Amino acid sequence: MTPNSSAVCDFIKTLYPNEAFIALHEPRFWGNEKKYLNECIDSTFVSSVGKFVDRFERDFAAYVGSKYAVATVNGTAALHISLLLAGVERGDEVITQALSFVATANAISYCGAKPIFLDVSLQTYGLDSHAIKEFLEQNCEVRDGLCYNKQTNKVVRACVPMHTFGHPCEIDAIKELCDIWHVNLVEDGAESLGSYYKGRHTGTFGKLGAFSFNGNKIITSGGGGVIVTDDEELAKRAKHLTTTAKIPHSYEYVHDAVAYNYRLPNLNAALLCAQLEQLEVFLEAKRALACEYEDYFAACEDIRFLKEPPHAKSNYWLNAIAFKSKEARDAFLEYSNANGVMSRPIWRLLSELDIYGDCQNDSLQNSRLLADSVVNIPSSVPPR
Ligand SMILES: *Cc1c(COP(=O)(O)O)cnc(C)c1O
Repeated sequence: MTPNSSAVCDFIKTLYPNEAFIALHEPRFWGNEKKYLNECIDSTFVSSVGKFVDRFERDFAAYVGSKYAVATVNGTAALHISLLLAGVERGDEVITQALSFVATANAISYCGAKPIFLDVSLQTYGLDSHAIKEFLEQNCEVRDGLCYNKQTNKVVRACVPMHTFGHPCEIDAIKELCDIWHVNLVEDGAESLGSYYKGRHTGTFGKLGAFSFNGNKIITSGGGGVIVTDDEELAKRAKHLTTTAKIPHSYEYVHDAVAYNYRLPNLNAALLCAQLEQLEVFLEAKRALACEYEDYFAACEDIRFLKEPPHAKSNYWLNAIAFKSKEARDAFLEYSNANGVMSRPIWRLLSELDIYGDCQNDSLQNSRLLADSVVNIPSSVPPR
């Protein structure tokens, strides 16, 4: 049996008692946020330098198990710099998924490169390794150690899978294909802090990985991001490029590249240090919430709850349900949003935005199906 929209909303209201309006994803500031912010303000080091940026970079690298972490002003900036450091240049092409937030494709465009939009897996909602294999075999060849798209004669320089809603994609298989085809792997881990694939943290499989700390992510600095890598040289260049490429000197202003002001202010880092301390608490609460959803929807014939994929541990950042038809999906969106329970359809496919309409893509069969059937439901850590 499948409950109607009102029964589903009543169930969601039991998970968030005493809330007049249930948001999709709200931050929780339950720890040292105010204490660290006050320390930061009292120190006067609120901007480009300060101990919280250094501390956050150390703590974050340790948490995900990467050698280096470089904080940035947001996740899009982290992705942009990661792609530049992976060698993406004007005129290149970069494989990614059509089913993602626009930042993934924008970061590719900032490098002067063009996205190639491939399909996602129905099990992970992330880039499908079979789709990548098929695209590479049908369209590409390796010449002089580079992967060329035979249709455009451009270099396919990088591949950017995204761990959708925090569910790890088939990153092992994707990495293997990237290695065979000489394509650099950069992970968009914006949604997947606290998610693991075969015991290893997402974002640490590629040459570089990017995370976001926007207000709706699992932890937030108001706005913020981070680049992770195991390569010391890349980490140094990431720091350099995100801080206007200024040659360290006590008073001279000398810059050796046209670079970026992408550093994370110390004030935001102070907030982030406090948030990172609570990540384990958030992860546990989100897993418990996902379990409640899973149990509830297990009895529904016409609604499928997206569970963590095999071999993976998901952070369950945003819970997602898939309806059997677009009509049923639309009816739920309409009812829930009119009745105090926020829900959202999945993103418009990037390949269907006017700005990316001229990019190459495959059949996008699964992506299209999901774009018409999936809804995100409230996923904040429940109030205590
Ligand atoms: C949030 C997000 C980003 C980056 O977001 P910022 O707002 O720039 O921090 C990038 N990719 C995906 C998939 C995201 O969800």
